[in-house]
Amino acid sequence: MASSYDVVVIGSGPAGYVAAIRAAQLGFSTACVEKWLNKEGKTVFGGTCLNVGCIPSKALLDSSHKFMEARDHFDVHGITVGKVGVDVPAMIARKDKVVAQLTGGVSGLFAGNKVTGIGGVAKVTGPNSVTVTNHEGEVEVLEAKHIIIAAGSVPIEIPPTPVDQDTIVDSTGALEFTAVPKRLGVIGAGVIGLELGSVWARLGSEVTVLEAMDGFLPAADKQIAKEAQKLFVKQGLDIKLGARVTGSKIAGKGAKKTVTVEYTDAEGDKTQTFDKLIVAVGRRPYTQNIVEESIGLEVDERGFVKVNEQCATSIPTIFAVGDAVRGPMLAHKGSEEGVMVVERLAGKQTQVNYALVPSVIYTHPEIAWVGKNEEELKAEGVEFNVGVFPFAASGRALAANDADGMVKLIADKNTDRILGCHIIGASAADLLQQIVIAMEFSASAEDIGLTIFSHPALSEAVHEAALAANGHAIHIGNRKRR
Ligand code: NAD
Repeated sequence: MASSYDVVVIGSGPAGYVAAIRAAQLGFSTACVEKWLNKEGKTVFGGTCLNVGCIPSKALLDSSHKFMEARDHFDVHGITVGKVGVDVPAMIARKDKVVAQLTGGVSGLFAGNKVTGIGGVAKVTGPNSVTVTNHEGEVEVLEAKHIIIAAGSVPIEIPPTPVDQDTIVDSTGALEFTAVPKRLGVIGAGVIGLELGSVWARLGSEVTVLEAMDGFLPAADKQIAKEAQKLFVKQGLDIKLGARVTGSKIAGKGAKKTVTVEYTDAEGDKTQTFDKLIVAVGRRPYTQNIVEESIGLEVDERGFVKVNEQCATSIPTIFAVGDAVRGPMLAHKGSEEGVMVVERLAGKQTQVNYALVPSVIYTHPEIAWVGKNEEELKAEGVEFNVGVFPFAASGRALAANDADGMVKLIADKNTDRILGCHIIGASAADLLQQIVIAMEFSASAEDIGLTIFSHPALSEAVHEAALAANGHAIHIGNRKRR
């Protein structure tokens, strides 16, 4: 007899597991199917984010940052340390421990909320049925009143650089190096390329980033992107823009293997040889073979399941959320979509505010933004005021010897409503969140200016940027006073 559920979720990443937990909280009998196996061959929940994405990369970013601080910056504080070394296998093992703790945490949350976690590969075989093949090859059919596809995404591979997870790796392989590569190539100056390039550069790799586009971080505000590029170059990243990779050749054996990358830029054809190469050219939705063709679920030309604003698909019983659907491939966006879908099934009116999905790049300094940037507003013909406050003028940032970057706040010239905030600096992600909340409440720059901020704190830079938008920041010279 088939097991029967109100909600069956396919995939247990931040979109799927959050949807499953919220569904169970709302009283739905819920199952979540996950095919991911850990290194020991055991089913683990958490998807890309917890296993090979956000969490392990942040573990390595934090470890490598501490190493770099000890090696390069402790002396400024009057701290003397001996020769600072790095034990890569120990660093990787700590990262694995953090991952195990958090994936175990999801299992615990499933148990606590009475979500049935099922290990195996799921396929939608009818508008109300999901067939699961477990890792022993046994088949089970789950009956479902509602199905949520939260199957996530996988790294894009490009023909010139086939990934072997040894010399040429993707974002997963780049979390598993057993030693610091002397020469590291990175294809793609996107989020993953910059984060993982930073990890290994801090640990001592000579890092070259090959980016096909001519502009750096085109999705970011231009002023912030320019500052970021300047700081990353200062940190030793060799960022080559307008460099299109056309081929690669692997030579040598064992630890002596190298890869020579062929690329073309404005000056013509070039080659460069690396010990390891990370391919970070984007991700694509993982939607093939998830739904039987006869069901007629609509998928676009890039593989995204077609959904409306509420994540409903062309089939009334089937929903899709997270990286499998349009919009930025971000864990928090997927989680909110998962919550929206199940809350609407429970009769609530929940919506995702797609205009306020924050973006973060976890380099150091971090880069974070929400809302519109200057270029977008100019293109829309919106009149606006800009307030910029540099961390070099923040007492707290100077005390921490961490004063690179700035907060930039943009407000409507006529109504003063905040239209966007763009930060490059230490703890940018956490600082930005204040403005995400403010924008959710339609705050004006004046509202932020009239709010009391603790002193000394990095968030004072947010306060000052808001004051600067109206021409009266206290701790910088103001060109115009109002
Ligand atoms: P991305 O789209 O951010 O960047 C890929 C870059 O590769 C682009 O700049 C592109 O121009 C370049 N590129 C593509 N083909 C190329 C080629 N042949 N030669 C040289 N350059 C080439 O993608 P990503 O960094 O791989 O990240 C994938 C997804 O994962 C993104 O959607 C991202 O939002 C998400 N992610 C987010 C975070 C975060 O929020 N901090 C972290 C990691 C990943």
